Amino acid sequence: MITTQSKTDLKNMNRQQLVRYVEMLGQPSFRAEQLLAWLYRPGITDFSQMTDLAKELRALLAQRARISRFENPVVEVSEDGAVKFGFTLEDGKMIESVLIPEEDRNTLCVSTQVGCAMGCTFCLTGKMGFSRNLKPAEIVNQVCAVRDWMLEQNRGDQIKGELSNLVFMGMGEPLANLDNLLIALSILTEQRGLDFSSRRITVSTSGLVPQMLEFGRKSEVNLAVSLHAVDNATRSMLMPINRKYPLEELLAACKEYQMKKRQRIMFEYVLLEGVNDSDADAVKLAELLRGIPCKINLLVVNATEGCPHRSPGREHILRFQEILRRRGYAVFIRQSRGEDISAACGQLAARVQGTPSV
Ligand code: SAH
Ligand code: SF4
Repeated sequence: MITTQSKTDLKNMNRQQLVRYVEMLGQPSFRAEQLLAWLYRPGITDFSQMTDLAKELRALLAQRARISRFENPVVEVSEDGAVKFGFTLEDGKMIESVLIPEEDRNTLCVSTQVGCAMGCTFCLTGKMGFSRNLKPAEIVNQVCAVRDWMLEQNRGDQIKGELSNLVFMGMGEPLANLDNLLIALSILTEQRGLDFSSRRITVSTSGLVPQMLEFGRKSEVNLAVSLHAVDNATRSMLMPINRKYPLEELLAACKEYQMKKRQRIMFEYVLLEGVNDSDADAVKLAELLRGIPCKINLLVVNATEGCPHRSPGREHILRFQEILRRRGYAVFIRQSRGEDISAACGQLAARVQGTPSV
């Protein structure tokens, strides 16, 4: 007998894979286009709803395949409008996504792994350790579930507009799950899939150099690099991955990274009091990034319980920004949203699963 779990989850497949799948079932390839359109339409949960497919094909699909979706998320709305979704996976593990509504856009912060193996000292997901990679369907289903939730909310007029932007800045290191990430991205940008523009998607990495270069060759979406320090000693202390791919290698890779016209790398730099926030650090940062088309996001650290770091004061952050601005960089300050509902960086899952604090 074929159980639900052993059926093929069609949401794990991009267009090419769906074509191969329908051909394997003895069907013409255009059936894949029809399937794609149905799979990502809100409210479609069952093959019997796919009215332009022949009855026999619908029956065959119902026997062999399934359409996974996330149900009953834990939803928490922050005072500042950010909405955190906790999803329970089929194996009982939890992940989260955070919706950040703004005037001109609605951005979803998406997870790519359960936990993370990178162990950055300031990050709560890092403290959870690594559990497993998310499958393409588990990445895509975060977007589907939040889109559906928004459709319901829009009826009640609470959040305006549609989901417009995606940032891969939730739990996990996206480029450590590169194959599944690429499949998910092709579904997300597929016209008959979720139809996001590549320009409105950003993937953030802690700096896995070979995967980063491969990603640049295979994907058109934007890249963000978590830099966080300007010398190897400090960066290795904060981000153990720096021992494998030190700053020189990472920045060289950024220089040769393939970009489209007008595309820029976004460098993230979390300001930690007394660690990486001096005037000299700002000057050095400006020097290191010289020649790379980029913008800089200064992140205000979300200093959770057990986090060994503190944020410098507002004045100090503005001063750091000013030093970079005077040297010609576009620099933005990013306060984490939803702190009252612990929306940043794996905090929901960490709390629910009772990760010991350090
Ligand atoms: N693993 C990827 C993407 C997820 S984290 C990466 O590290 O780039 C998204 C961003 O949030 C990264 O720049 C990360 O360094 C930053 N971050 C992690 N913990 C944080 C915290 N406590 N406060 C502020 N930013 C944090
Ligand atoms: Fe992983 Fe990114 Fe957190 Fe580092 S900052 S532990 S890479 S999720």
